[in-house]
Amino acid sequence: PAPEVSGEPAEIDPDKLDPDALKVIHRLHSHGHQVYLVGGCVRDLLLERTPKDFDIATSAHPGEVRAIFRNCRLIGRRFRLAHIYFKGGKIIEVSTFRANPTELEAAQPDSGEEEGGEAEEQNPDLLITHDNVFGTAEQDARRRDFTINGLFYDVAEGRVIDYVRGRRDLDERYIRTIGDPEVRMREDPVRILRAVRFASKLGLDIESRTYAAMEGAVEDLTRCAPARLLEETFRLIRGSVAAPSLRLLAALDALKILLPPVAAYFREHGRRGEKTFYAFAEALDRRVAAGEPLDDAILLAALLVPIAQAAPVVESLDAAGRPSVAQAIEDLLAEFVQTARLPRRIAERCRLLLIAQRTLSGERRKKTGAFRRHPLFADALVVFEISVEATGRYRDVLEAWKRGDVPAARPAEGSAASEP
Ligand code: ATP
Ligand code: MG
Repeated sequence: PAPEVSGEPAEIDPDKLDPDALKVIHRLHSHGHQVYLVGGCVRDLLLERTPKDFDIATSAHPGEVRAIFRNCRLIGRRFRLAHIYFKGGKIIEVSTFRANPTELEAAQPDSGEEEGGEAEEQNPDLLITHDNVFGTAEQDARRRDFTINGLFYDVAEGRVIDYVRGRRDLDERYIRTIGDPEVRMREDPVRILRAVRFASKLGLDIESRTYAAMEGAVEDLTRCAPARLLEETFRLIRGSVAAPSLRLLAALDALKILLPPVAAYFREHGRRGEKTFYAFAEALDRRVAAGEPLDDAILLAALLVPIAQAAPVVESLDAAGRPSVAQAIEDLLAEFVQTARLPRRIAERCRLLLIAQRTLSGERRKKTGAFRRHPLFADALVVFEISVEATGRYRDVLEAWKRGDVPAARPAEGSAASEP
């Protein structure tokens, strides 16, 4: 079908476009290549939001892009992309138009024959495992996940090029897969997390067939590369939409796969547990939305505080001589390392941040001088601040730490002599 080319050329303000991206576009254009702004930046500009980055798609092959730009490096093995470097470490990403590999195979039904396999049986598995076939602009639009992410912007002409009816869905505020939702979710179940992120971040509704396909593909998440799942999960938290996103993922019953300890905590602690957990997630979202960059260990620790706190506070020591809470926190993070492939470096920082929370609240006594000088003290205090925001407890203790005083020791949370 012919693309729907928008009639109103002035709807994207040229002043909102990134000057370095414009340089790249003009250069590729002057070499006779087709070149467009694509994906998230077009969507965000049309929603009058500030794009995070300006991605470019072109008919030029990666080698051709490199030949045109001196400040260019090709990255990725299967999916080759050009990175063009600008002042201040800024990178403009340029990708060559590609087709959805699954669609290509479907269009060439005899492609499996040379292997001698039965034609019927070829590729019953929709999961995309290779992703490197060049294509046309239209194919490149159609391989993308959601219609709102499939829009192109032709800078030279000042027009939006819409092969996928993304304009309509942006106007009606819907997230809808491009093509058959069941196929698109099953070929890459990470799109479940992406739909959740865009719905939460942009305040859009998920169209009902897309939502049904997400429900149907949840179990397929176990087949995705854990690193991709973890990255998309962190993008929810870094994007200040942890609480709404995790609520959506809980409704989809996806937490048992993405964050098994959170799912287990909900099972054990019911409604009250959920309330506590989301209070922390919301406090964290407010903090991230305020603009302070927090690293992944801090983000994860803030989310896990209620789960770590739910570990039984037993004053006895474990076999290694550690209090059992420390052991429970260690087990919690070991589970993340094992199930989500959380990098050990982040897990270790997260573990220390969680253990420090008991010292900060006064449940565990420590030599406070050394504790204050510890390199993690400032980060642990950020996590503690988020806890105070979430629960309203320990405000005076927090103030004391910030003043540089040593707060009085407190009995453990939940014990007989609790807070006033
Ligand atoms: P953000 O502003 O949060 O970065 P984005 O839309 O730019 O959102 P990216 O993950 O940066 O998201 O991806 C850039 C574009 O690549 C998307 O807009 C989409 O068109 C395409 N894309 C990314 N991931 C997928 C995927 N799993 N399946 C299909 N298309 C994808
Ligand atoms: Mg992006």
